[in-house]
Amino acid sequence: MQGPVSDLVLLTLMVLFFGLQLWRRPQADFRFWFAGWIFILVGYFLWAMGEAHAGLPRLENALCFDFTMLGVIAFVLSAVAKDYGVRRAMLVGLAVAPAAMAMVDVQDFLPVPRVALAAGLLLGECAVLAVTYHLQRQRPLRKVILTFAVGASYGAGLVAYALLTPAENLANAVMVQALLTAAVLFAGSKQKSGRSVLQWTATFGFLAWAAFYLLRAFPASPAWLQNVIDEFWNFPKYFVGASMTLCVLEDATEDKARAAESFRDLYEDFRLLFDTHPHPMWICDTERGQILTANETAVKQYGYTLAEFQALRIQDLEVPPDGEAEEMEHMLGRAAEAGVRERHRHKDGNVLWVNRVEREIAYLGQKARLVIARNITDRLKLDRELSFRAQHDALTGLPNRQLLEERLEQCLQSCRVEERRAAVLTIDVDHFKLINDTYGHLVGDECLKEVAARLKSKIRKVDTIARTGGEEFTAVVSGLSKSSDAEKVAASLMRVFEAPVELAFGALGVTVSVGVAIYPDDATDATSLRRLSDEAMYRAKRSGRNRAAYASEKAPVLDFKKPEVDLKLEQHSS
Ligand code: GH3
Ligand code: MG
Ligand code: MG
Repeated sequence: MQGPVSDLVLLTLMVLFFGLQLWRRPQADFRFWFAGWIFILVGYFLWAMGEAHAGLPRLENALCFDFTMLGVIAFVLSAVAKDYGVRRAMLVGLAVAPAAMAMVDVQDFLPVPRVALAAGLLLGECAVLAVTYHLQRQRPLRKVILTFAVGASYGAGLVAYALLTPAENLANAVMVQALLTAAVLFAGSKQKSGRSVLQWTATFGFLAWAAFYLLRAFPASPAWLQNVIDEFWNFPKYFVGASMTLCVLEDATEDKARAAESFRDLYEDFRLLFDTHPHPMWICDTERGQILTANETAVKQYGYTLAEFQALRIQDLEVPPDGEAEEMEHMLGRAAEAGVRERHRHKDGNVLWVNRVEREIAYLGQKARLVIARNITDRLKLDRELSFRAQHDALTGLPNRQLLEERLEQCLQSCRVEERRAAVLTIDVDHFKLINDTYGHLVGDECLKEVAARLKSKIRKVDTIARTGGEEFTAVVSGLSKSSDAEKVAASLMRVFEAPVELAFGALGVTVSVGVAIYPDDATDATSLRRLSDEAMYRAKRSGRNRAAYASEKAPVLDFKKPEVDLKLEQHSS
C-alpha cells in the first residue's frame, strides 16, 4: 500500500469524499479540509511523477513541498474558520501562506546568507505570534500566555536552527511548525459534542506527521531510524485523513439524532394541539379517506366514538348537496374564508354546516390528510336570520321595499328576454286610519297581518307581494301575455276582501284601492312603473276607493260597487 499509485488513489478517494460532503453540508471547516486535501493531492501527484522519473528537478521538488505546506495551512485555517469565522481564516491564510512559501523555497534557488535567512524567519515568526495573539485575545490570560510562550520558544528555536545549521532542511522545520499548530488547534477546537476520540486521533496524526518532518530536519539520525521513517512516513497523513472522515460521519449522525429529537418534540406539541383543538379534526389516509384518528372535539360534536370514527371514511360524514344547500349557497354567496363550505351528518342524523380545510401531512411515517371542520351551523343560522330580517317586514313577514326593488329589476330583466308583460300593482287599504283610531293600533296590526296573508294567498310563488308602506302593499306579477291579465290579477286581489277580515274580537269589513302599471305598455323601467302604479292608485282613491285604476289613461276605473268603507263590526256570536 505504500506505492505512489495506491497513495494517489487513496488521496483521490478522500478528496472525492470531502467534495461530496461539502456539497451536502457546506460548513466552513469542510471547505478548508477539502481545499487542504486537494493541495496535498497535488503535492503527491508531483511527488509521484518525480518517483516515476527518478529524481525530481529542483522546481518540482519545491512545488511538491509547497502544495503539502499549503494543505497543512488549510487544515490550520479550518480550525481558525470554525472558531473565528471564514473571513478571519482567509485573512490569516493570506498573511501566513506566502511568507511560509517564500521561507521554504528561497534557499532552494538562491544562496541566501544564514543571517538574512534567520532575520526573515524572525520576522515571519513575529507575524505568526501577532496573529496568534490577535485570535486568542478573548481567551483566558493563562492560555494566551502559554500559547504565546510555546510559539515564541519554537520561533526562537527555528531562528537558532537557521543560524547554526547549513539550513538545507529549513523547509522541514517550517513544516513542523505548521503541523504542530494544526495539532494544537485540532486538540483545542470546539466540537458540538465535546472533545471526541476522533479529535484526539487527528491531533495524534498531526503530531506524528510533525515528528517525521522533525527527524528529517536532523538528517544525522541513526540508520534504523531512517528505515522507520522510510517505511512509515505516510502513516500520519492517513491517521489525520481517517479521523477527519470519521468526524464528518459523526457530525452527520449527531445532526440526524438532533433532527429526530426535535421532530419528536414537534410531534408531541402537535398532538397536544390536535387533542385540545376547539374545532373537530381528523387524520385520514390520502387515498381512501379512511379516518385514522379524530380529536376530542370531533367526538363531542359528531356523536361518534373514536372507534366508530375509525370505521368510517371522511366522505361518509358528508351530506350530498340538495335544494337546501343550493338555497343556502345562493343566499350566502361565495365563502369569504378559506376552505370549503359543506354539510356533515351528526350520528343522530342532524345536519351540521361546516367549513372544511385540509392539508397533507406525514402521520406515523406515512402520507396523510389533516382535515379540520369548523362548525358554522349557528353562524349560518344567524346570518340567514339577519339577512331575512334585512329584507323582510317584521309585522307581516312579507318582503320589504328593498327586496321588492331587487325582485322588480330581476322580473323586468327576464320579461325583456322573454318578451312578456309584467304588472306592478300598488294596493292601499282604504281608510285604515279610521280602523286605528276606532279600535286601536293593536287591532290595526292584526288587521294588517290578515290583509298581508290574504294578498299573499293570491300571489304565485314566483311573483312578489311586499309591504312597501304602513298600509300599502306592492305586487309584482310577471309572465302576463296580455294587458287584460293584469285586470284579472287586480280583481282577484280585491275579491279576497269580499269576506270581512276575521280578528280576535270580531269581523271587520276592509276594502283596498289598487293602482296598476304594465310593462312594457306604460313604462319600461322600474321607477316609472312604480310611480305610475302609485298615481293610478291615488286616482282610484279619488274616484271613490275600493276600486282599481290603470296607468293608461284610456282604461276605465274598475269599480267593485261595494260600500266605500264598511267599518261595521260584525261581532262573533260566541
Ligand atoms: P286612505 O283611504 O286615503 O288610504 O286613508 P288612510 O287612512 O288609509 O290613509 P292614511 O295614509 O291617512 O293613514 C294610514 C294610517 O296607517 C296612518 C297610520 O297610523 C297607519 N299605520 C301605518 N303603519 C301602521 C302599522 O304598522 N300599524 C298600525 N296599526 N297602523 C299603521
Ligand atoms: Mg290607506
Ligand atoms: Mg296609505
